[in-house]
Amino acid sequence: MIERIEHQSTKILATVGPASSSYETLLELVKAGVDVFRLNFSHGTHQDHEEVMNRITYINEKYNLHIGILADLQGPKLRVGEIENNGIELKKGQTIKFTNELCVGTKEKVYMSYKKFASDVKVGEKVLIDDGKLMLEVLETNKKDLVKLKVLFGGILSSRKGVNLPNTKISLPSLTEKDEKDLEYILTQPSVNWIALSFVRSAKDMKDLAKRVKAKNHPAKLMAKIEKPEAIEKLDKIIKASNAIMVARGDLGIEVPIEKLPLLQKMIIKKCIQRARPVVVATHMLDSMITAPIPTRAEITDVANAVLDGADAVMLSGETSVGQHPVKVVEAMNNIIEEAEKEYVLFPRPTPSKKSRTFLSDAVCFNAAKVAEDIKAKAIMGMTSSGYTAFKVSSYRPKCKIYIFSDQDSMLATLNLVWGVQGFYYDKFTTTDETIDDVTSILVQNEHLKTGDIIVNTGSMPLNKRHRTNMLKVSVVE
Ligand code: PGA
Ligand code: MN
Repeated sequence: MIERIEHQSTKILATVGPASSSYETLLELVKAGVDVFRLNFSHGTHQDHEEVMNRITYINEKYNLHIGILADLQGPKLRVGEIENNGIELKKGQTIKFTNELCVGTKEKVYMSYKKFASDVKVGEKVLIDDGKLMLEVLETNKKDLVKLKVLFGGILSSRKGVNLPNTKISLPSLTEKDEKDLEYILTQPSVNWIALSFVRSAKDMKDLAKRVKAKNHPAKLMAKIEKPEAIEKLDKIIKASNAIMVARGDLGIEVPIEKLPLLQKMIIKKCIQRARPVVVATHMLDSMITAPIPTRAEITDVANAVLDGADAVMLSGETSVGQHPVKVVEAMNNIIEEAEKEYVLFPRPTPSKKSRTFLSDAVCFNAAKVAEDIKAKAIMGMTSSGYTAFKVSSYRPKCKIYIFSDQDSMLATLNLVWGVQGFYYDKFTTTDETIDDVTSILVQNEHLKTGDIIVNTGSMPLNKRHRTNMLKVSVVE
């Protein structure tokens, strides 16, 4: 057994990088409360990622845990090329050219990775570089390979910085050549539970990704990163076509006016909960801790507000991947979550939609949450193979633990991202009565339950028909 902090309902997703990829640090992060690790395929080699995945798998096996792994595809992210001396200063008012011809960038001319840049941008459109720190405006384009820009906000431009075109419809495919290669590799890795796609613009992007994953028979579920204005416009369809959503505030805050972020975050979370899609709030949550040992007041308030908004998980990026205090950051985040969850001021519980294909089962899960609250149950328990029961019961945000049993370890790790859900392995296929007795005694043995606790069991009867959840049973642990 491992000394691990008490499970909070809101999960912690932490990005792995040079500051956290050693076995010792990964283990420390797990002890401090990380539920899922993110491997960012914008950085690092496949070999680097594989070593990290092997370490996480080893930790899971050794300590009987279900820590999840999320592989994050870079998507159509635009970048400038190499810059001379790794930095030039762009001054307000000066002009500069972006070219598709490979070159080392100078004050006059910079390489731009995006081949259709000149044909996609229009005169007057804004070009933002390095998370919006630099702003340029398009003066002229030859519609082929050369664009002349004027600097509106200057600063240092260094090599390979990201470029955002908030006003431009980009004609790049959702999966770039790099993503294709990364995906091909990811789909050879059975320990990957989630695949995230960056800069999603339509539901079709997610459906295309889903087809590729299915073709390889990989069990990973798919997360859409919402970080483009187009994605906000088509949000409902994207949520429907995805298994989970990330409020990717880093790029979203560049692509839409930054002051819109707080309400967009609340709106996206609400829609996700209504559709039972786990939702992650990402970027700059404890950013100052990349260097400082304690967070700012604004940051702790931001994390707590994400919890109160109803997020399934909060994410750390640079804080754990390159920061100086990866373990302290996770401890801080965990403490903030614990405090915020003491006073869960819950928005109205979503009600099952009569139009849903799964309405009857949804109603059972909804009432499991409601009954559990009425009778002050300690836990709702359920079995799953598709994940449906876990996603659904969680979406009704019951005020008790959600213990989910499955005969697939990879499903249990997948569900580790989901609000309130704790997974346990169970592979017997017996009668409903016996199953309930069995899983209850597993929880008693693990000290999750004790004699006298009230529990709500959900299940499917008859068991051998493998229907969706259709049964509710209330009992007291003997
Ligand atoms: P990234 O995604 O860190 O991969 O850019 C998150 C974000 O944009 O917020
Ligand atoms: Mn991003």
